[in-house]
Amino acid sequence: MTETTGAAITQPILILLLAASGGEPKLADGAAEAIGAAAQLGTPVAVTVGPADALPQMAEAAAALGAVQVLTAAVDPTQLGAPVADALAAAVAQLAPAAVLVPHTIEGTDAAGRLAARLRAPLAIDAVAVERDAEGIVARHSIYGGAYDVTSAATFGPLIVTLRRGSIDHRAEAATPQISSLEVAATGRRAAVVEGFEAAEQTSTRPDLRSAKKVVSGGRGLGSKEQFALIEQLADALGAAIGASRAAVDAGYVEQSSQVGQTGTSVSPDLYLAIGISGAIQHRAGMQTAKTIVAIDKDANAPIFEIADLGVVGDLFTIVPQLVAALEARKG
Ligand SMILES: Cc1cc2nc3c(=O)[nH]c(=O)nc-3n(C[C@H](O)[C@H](O)[C@H](O)COP(=O)(O)OP(=O)(O)OC[C@H]3O[C@@H](n4cnc5c(N)ncnc54)[C@H](O)[C@@H]3O)c2cc1C
Repeated sequence: MTETTGAAITQPILILLLAASGGEPKLADGAAEAIGAAAQLGTPVAVTVGPADALPQMAEAAAALGAVQVLTAAVDPTQLGAPVADALAAAVAQLAPAAVLVPHTIEGTDAAGRLAARLRAPLAIDAVAVERDAEGIVARHSIYGGAYDVTSAATFGPLIVTLRRGSIDHRAEAATPQISSLEVAATGRRAAVVEGFEAAEQTSTRPDLRSAKKVVSGGRGLGSKEQFALIEQLADALGAAIGASRAAVDAGYVEQSSQVGQTGTSVSPDLYLAIGISGAIQHRAGMQTAKTIVAIDKDANAPIFEIADLGVVGDLFTIVPQLVAALEARKG
């Protein structure tokens, strides 16, 4: 990597910011990280896309997170996919950015893929960092269960990057933005249409797994759905989200939405506790970039200890209740 030049610092970096679904108008998760990453590469320009009545609050929030310019685009919330790509394509045409950064969410990856296909531009998926070298912008990825770090770079066009949630620490300074609305020519491309909407009741007060700062995950070692309640107790004592290995999900201890790994959710929390999880490569693929990994397993040779910052060899049914009791005692 070489030093960033002055000219490069002024290059616009687009960030796609979508509206959070339901409730009051606000930005979807991942905005602070994406703007923080953009600020390290060039001039962060947010493209806020959402229902017309949410756009003023979204622009204000983007500026508070460091966007120095905000382009707003109103979309009909019943139309999925294509209108977001239309707005991004219009912003790329207007600003010729060096890169387009998108939070790695379901909606974000959809928009990034559509934009890349439409512009025939390179796409770097699930990056854990973005940097500059002498040639331009590169994305860093953690692959094969975190066994390798690789970089990807574009030889043409703006690099479109989706950023793994929780992987970017840098935060930009709040800015006083120039806000303008984006002229988006209707492309007439077909979009999926929402025909009905039914709010799902949120029954859990725990943090969302994807964006949680702390995750407590349980594996096959828990032995049963009833005993998996130990993971819930520890998660609640820590204010953490609940994760699980696929073996725990397949055994019915916990719902599939909690699965972490190659075929589940990828997480990068500050703290990841793996309990009764052996550390198969497919599980590591989804959690290896956590900042601190703590493992509890009775098998000292379990592969999870190869990546753990702190490992405790012992029976989880003895250790976890003690941990919960100690945390509760600290809370007083
Ligand atoms: C294509 C493919 C995709 C996959 N995707 C995923 C994925 O997304 N996520 C995922 O997790 N897996 C995935 N898997 C499965 C993966 O290969 C492993 O089988 C799985 O991760 C194992 O889960 P586990 O660690 O809970 O179970 P195990 O490997 O059985 O480990 C259980 C651990 O619990 C410990 N233990 C048992 N009792 C106790 C006790 N009383 N106290 C302390 N420790 C105890 C054991 O020592 C052991 O280390 C995938 C596999 C394939 C083939």
